[in-house]
Amino acid sequence: MEQKSTVPTPTPTPDGGAPQRRRSPRRASSAPAGEAPTELVAKARLVHDRLCAVYGCPIGYFHDLDPLSELVSSLLSHRTRNADSGRAFKALRQRFPDWADVIAAPTGEVEALIHGVRWPELKAPRIQAILAGVRERTGNLDLGFLAEMAPEAARAWLEALPGVGPKTSAAVLSFSTLRMPALPVDSHHHRVAIRLGLIGAEVAVGPSHPVLRAQLPDDWSAQDLYDNHEVLMLHGQKVCHHRRPACGRCTLADICPSAFQVD
Ligand code: SF4
Repeated sequence: MEQKSTVPTPTPTPDGGAPQRRRSPRRASSAPAGEAPTELVAKARLVHDRLCAVYGCPIGYFHDLDPLSELVSSLLSHRTRNADSGRAFKALRQRFPDWADVIAAPTGEVEALIHGVRWPELKAPRIQAILAGVRERTGNLDLGFLAEMAPEAARAWLEALPGVGPKTSAAVLSFSTLRMPALPVDSHHHRVAIRLGLIGAEVAVGPSHPVLRAQLPDDWSAQDLYDNHEVLMLHGQKVCHHRRPACGRCTLADICPSAFQVD
């Protein structure tokens, strides 16, 4: 069952630069990363298998972008509908086919091009700063070298960039042509995981990444982890809606503590 935050203090955060409500401290009920209890591991696997049966795994990759382009795409997509972030990405690429030109462009022009996304005034300078940070650290604008790194090291490299958090780093590894094993958690995935009891309601999206990853087998492939993210996201979009989830037609109702409890 969802709980409502009572302290609406907006603060800038990584993963898109969007303001986010500060969460009140609540009862700690999440498993520490790397130490997922056996029953949660079994439940996470059952959830995966049932949802894969519904949505059809393996699921095709929806992007074929190089990792730097995926990084920009991911930053644009936070708290934004896919169609709107896709339009903004296309507009940016059409006006600036070279990412170096985005760095040099007036921030107002970048903001105008991506006006359809949420918080363009935050995302435009952040994208410019991140692109500049990549160039400063590598000497160019190519993240292909991440393929030679272990996934956790590659994510740490990305998260050292200003405003890049676990959701973005996982998206770059998983969704781009790198096709590396990583588990992104978006807002749908996060909501369904809370309702199922895989994580506590107090666990924000960022900290949920290592907790949910730890519930899945260490040796899962990039495709397995991508499938897990996709089926939980799809379930959030199609059945376990933000409001009035369709529990009556949910394949997880018998194992969900929130079944028929959410308005
Ligand atoms: S039973 Fe209801 S609340 Fe639980 S996962 Fe399914 S749709 Fe969501």
